[in-house]
Amino acid sequence: MGPNRYVRTPIPEDPGEERASQFEEIFHPYTREEAVLEGQRCLECAMPYCVQACPITQDCRGYNTLIGQGKFDEAARLTLQDNPLAYVLCKTCYHYCEEDCIMGGRGVPIAIRHLKRAAMEHGKSDLLYVPSKPKNQRIAIVGGGPAGLMAAWELSLRGYAITLFEEFSQLGGQMLTIPRYHLEGDELGLDLARWKNLDVTFVVGKRCGRDFTPEGLLQEGYLAVFLAIGASNPRLLGIPGEELPGVFHALEYLLAVNTGPDTLFGRKGRRIVVIGGGDVAMDAARSSLRLAGKGDVMVVYRRAREAMPASEEELSQAEEEGVRFLFFRSPVRIEGKGRVERLVISRTEPGPPDARGRPTVKDVPNSEEVIECDTVIVAAGERADLEGLPPELGLQVSRQAWPEGKKEDWMTDVDGVFASGGKSIVYAMSAGSRAAEVIDAYVAKKTGGQPSPRPDPFGGPTPLPRTPPGYGGPTWHL
Ligand SMILES: Cc1cc2nc3c(=O)[nH]c(=O)nc-3n(C[C@H](O)[C@H](O)[C@H](O)COP(=O)(O)OP(=O)(O)OC[C@H]3O[C@@H](n4cnc5c(N)ncnc54)[C@H](O)[C@@H]3O)c2cc1C
Ligand code: SF4
Ligand code: SF4
Repeated sequence: MGPNRYVRTPIPEDPGEERASQFEEIFHPYTREEAVLEGQRCLECAMPYCVQACPITQDCRGYNTLIGQGKFDEAARLTLQDNPLAYVLCKTCYHYCEEDCIMGGRGVPIAIRHLKRAAMEHGKSDLLYVPSKPKNQRIAIVGGGPAGLMAAWELSLRGYAITLFEEFSQLGGQMLTIPRYHLEGDELGLDLARWKNLDVTFVVGKRCGRDFTPEGLLQEGYLAVFLAIGASNPRLLGIPGEELPGVFHALEYLLAVNTGPDTLFGRKGRRIVVIGGGDVAMDAARSSLRLAGKGDVMVVYRRAREAMPASEEELSQAEEEGVRFLFFRSPVRIEGKGRVERLVISRTEPGPPDARGRPTVKDVPNSEEVIECDTVIVAAGERADLEGLPPELGLQVSRQAWPEGKKEDWMTDVDGVFASGGKSIVYAMSAGSRAAEVIDAYVAKKTGGQPSPRPDPFGGPTPLPRTPPGYGGPTWHL
């Protein structure tokens, strides 16, 4: 008897209570047999909405089917053809593909992200990328997050010589703040090992606007510059007491948790309040729970649970692990003598719609309450850090705060300088991919050449045939 198509092969996962006391990875990989069963659930749709929903149009239909046939090496190769950070993404991607999988309407969507992991773990994934013939043309990239890395990969495959400048001492950008219960090992290192033969020089510890400028790079002979600097400054609450010891911004907190909590905390918090309702707030709360031993972790959010921007997966996992939630409350001030001792909050109620027509909330007068606590973590979002960047660039800031050029081609007001970013790893990669395309076209025009499509990353005469996003019948055969 074949598999029941409507029931997902369970993803091995530790129970909530066990998880909450340690940083070990929550999900465990499918065995080969489990992966084959799950792969066989895929309907191989002629209009694969999963592929269309993936920001990098990863051929997930293709790898699902190959895994269903037990062809793990082929599935790994097909995955890596589109995705140079596949090992990171198979554990962290918010799996937009699964939201659009047609099986979602008939039961449970195919576990597409987890099948990517099966391809990486059970297939031959330590392949090496092969650059095209060198063009002897240099391009500079600023920012070592997923947008910058993707652009570097795309352009180096086309034969450009890339120098990638990163301010921090390590590559990865915000990926470095992802908790270890999602990314336990050196997944980025494993992905970058495949880049060994590409002409990409990483220069860490150099900040654009302090150590060099985009115009300076153009004058040095780089033909284009891509600014992929993300949004790394905290958005503050602007309430009294925010400067007290014991108040942290989520990004610095999570980075410190990953690099060694004792350097930041001095003593570990036991009663921790996290302010915010997004995925970063969930990461901060769940990490705090793991650090606090038998402590108490509470998330304070100003709207209802249903309005939280965090993904349902993160939210329900936080609930299972024992994070408590207080809805319809907003922070008023933080109090304490020399250190956080309490957070004063106020009840909220629905207010009039804002300029964009979105529902707002307002504080209810005289409704203050007090939460005794020793640590407050602010997860109110991020904003771009534009310090030192020349105003002539005319950088615009996206709604989610990263700087970008003009929508049509990401070009800034300075000819040859481009800028972009993304709201998640795979969206940032998609932005990097598009930037590579427009930079390739720009350089080709400038030097009298022809723009080149992405070649087969493994040096073959043409890339493997792949599923077109959303339309057409099966086009790939191995
Ligand atoms: C805690 C946390 C958890 C997350 N978890 C997930 C997840 O599970 N899944 C997911 O898909 N997404 C997740 N995200 C979101 C994702 O990490 C980001 O959307 C993505 O990293 C943005 O990529 P980027 O390349 O645009 O910018 P960034 O990742 O921010 O990279 C920008 C890089 O530029 C560098 N830089 C900045 N200014 C300069 C300068 N002037 N000169 C030189 N270098 C500079 C920065 O140091 C940084 O390395 C998470 C984010 C956070 C904060
Ligand atoms: S990269 Fe993310 S959205 Fe794309 S196929 Fe993989 S899990 Fe889905
Ligand atoms: S939408 Fe994609 S993953 Fe879902 S059944 Fe169709 S081809 Fe398979």
